[in-house]
Amino acid sequence: MQALNQYLASALKQARRTRGWSLDTTAANTGVSKAMLGQIERGESSPTLATLWKIASGFDLSFTYFLGPANPEADALEWRPAEQQRPQLAEGEMQVSVRFPYDPKYGFEWFELALPPGYERISEPHNSGVVEHISVRSGEMEVFAQGRWHKLKAGDSLRFAADAEHGYRNLTAQTVQCEDLIYYPGP
Ligand code: MN
Repeated sequence: MQALNQYLASALKQARRTRGWSLDTTAANTGVSKAMLGQIERGESSPTLATLWKIASGFDLSFTYFLGPANPEADALEWRPAEQQRPQLAEGEMQVSVRFPYDPKYGFEWFELALPPGYERISEPHNSGVVEHISVRSGEMEVFAQGRWHKLKAGDSLRFAADAEHGYRNLTAQTVQCEDLIYYPGP
């Protein structure tokens, strides 16, 4: 977590510098308080997953932009062993592991999510043109998109425009494993 905090602190400062945003502007654009942003930049806070998503959306950046650098060595081939993809972040009990971080060459980031029983989250809209692809590996879950909940069982997949309100929930007694591939249109 320490390394993540340090990386996040510098990535946030860099993103603000690139855009010329003050802390006030950043707070207004992300919905994250100026105090929290200051703590993150000083490496004093481990923000929740929800806070990180707000920051990424506010900057029109991918989620993985804030987690670590893209591998500059990897070009034609990138081998990502299972041990390196183990859950890196947890909010409540939701686990997120990164299959592939965002790379502008490819325009997507790809996660595996584990939703514990009773988990429910509604996300703020991503930026215009962002599309999510959910595919359930095990269990049953529901995805909120286009104004209603859609039931998905193992093997089902759903693609939806994620530039509107959307969400995920698990109404069952078993943890759900699913994949989420998020496409970002070009810069
Ligand atoms: Mn989303």
